[in-house]
Amino acid sequence: MINNVKEIPIEGITYKELNIEKKPLSKEYTPPPEELVPAANRAVCIDPSRTCMPFGAMWATLGVHRGIPFVQGAQGCTTYVRYTFARVFREPTLIANASFHEDAAVFGGRKNLIRGIRNLVCRYQPELISIVTTCSSEVIGDDIQSFLDEALEVMEEEMGPDIYDAVKFVIVNTPSFAGSHVEGYNRAAREFLKTLAKKTGQSEDLYFIPGMMMPGDIRELKHMFELMDVPYKILFDISDTLDCPLTGMPQMVPYYPPGGTRVEDFVRAGNAKGIFALSPDAGGAGAKWLEKRFKVPAFVIPMPIGVKNTDRMIKTIAEISGRGIPDSLRWERGILLDAMADTLHYTMGKRVAICGDPDFVAAATGFVCELGMIPTYILPGSKTKTALQTIKDVCAEYDVEPTVFVDSDQFEWEYALKNDKPDVILGHSRCVNISKEIKVPLVRFGFPVYDRVGYQREPIVGYRGGERFLARIINAILDQYFPDDRVQQ
Ligand code: SF4
Repeated sequence: MINNVKEIPIEGITYKELNIEKKPLSKEYTPPPEELVPAANRAVCIDPSRTCMPFGAMWATLGVHRGIPFVQGAQGCTTYVRYTFARVFREPTLIANASFHEDAAVFGGRKNLIRGIRNLVCRYQPELISIVTTCSSEVIGDDIQSFLDEALEVMEEEMGPDIYDAVKFVIVNTPSFAGSHVEGYNRAAREFLKTLAKKTGQSEDLYFIPGMMMPGDIRELKHMFELMDVPYKILFDISDTLDCPLTGMPQMVPYYPPGGTRVEDFVRAGNAKGIFALSPDAGGAGAKWLEKRFKVPAFVIPMPIGVKNTDRMIKTIAEISGRGIPDSLRWERGILLDAMADTLHYTMGKRVAICGDPDFVAAATGFVCELGMIPTYILPGSKTKTALQTIKDVCAEYDVEPTVFVDSDQFEWEYALKNDKPDVILGHSRCVNISKEIKVPLVRFGFPVYDRVGYQREPIVGYRGGERFLARIINAILDQYFPDDRVQQ
């Protein structure tokens, strides 16, 4: 029966009928056939390079000490997320779910939230719960604030008035049809600061919102800040929650990892000397809100990948803190420059296609240009407010003209790669298929990398991270393009 069903045609406007901005600029590019409908004009998205919005808000919450996301939706909205966390970080994660069924879809999730929050508080004694909405709760129109007020009244009766101080609640609205995981993190950054931050004085602390960096990247940031001797706080710090030994088990139940940003650090954020968003699309909204509300200077800058981006971060920190740049950091920078000079003959002129989250892609474009490589096809997987301009500026500086796929999907990006093969692909684990199909080496970076182990601990930010990232790129080139006996020549 099913074999008799005819293939559903993908309706849309063809390239020929379009006046599109994403014109292929590379001279070697072969235009796609007319029947290929660009993603922006298709009724379907084929192989999106992103995941859903609540995921980003859950990621941010897991970087808070004793923080648990409570997902107001069906169990499926957390199942894939837990699975992804387990694959990428190889760690268990505590994520609660309102367990929507048919009745919640009709009557709303009031009952689910009140009971769910009460159970979560009783059993897990968290310090913070983020209430993360989903497509279904947003479409139904759940009034989360009033549900929460009711839940607090119920808990007050049962547990006493201390409940108001014992647990903090942050509501993050994340209807997935309005954005991707990147926007979910961005919204969480804003809502956490909006709900928790206060101004009670002035401190010397510099605050950092890293965005969706890996634990190894956050550790590298800490290493640099410590060399600079600046007082700092990292918000949503997953380095010791999503990558840590299981200490205290089995006695410590419920189990919480020792790390994560303390709730009081969010509260004191209004006193900060400055706040940095190191991934403009994932965290920029939080930094800007803090600046607007408490006049804390906000620095929304590209991810510190590569020499120029890292220089920019370090110089800005040095200026704000007045601490100067230590020789040890200059030394690390020198080692990266030396490594780049030593291997320039491998990278110079190599054509590279890049795919990933906008902040990663924008920063990596700068780095590959610093290595003398030529970016050809770039896919920022999510909608972006800043990455396109960053890419444009880099391309103008290095006089390169890649095709940037805006509002697109991997299907369209891969089609371009099949027509005009690059020498190297920089991308996440979902780029494996195209890499194998066109026999071009894939250098894994960004999110998600789930088909290799240890990548979450290996930094790509900062000078030392840049050196590691460079080694990954060079080794991929050596494996593919240099016969074993000539590698050392
Ligand atoms: S897209 Fe919507 S319904 Fe699907 S998992 Fe994400 S939040 Fe849930």
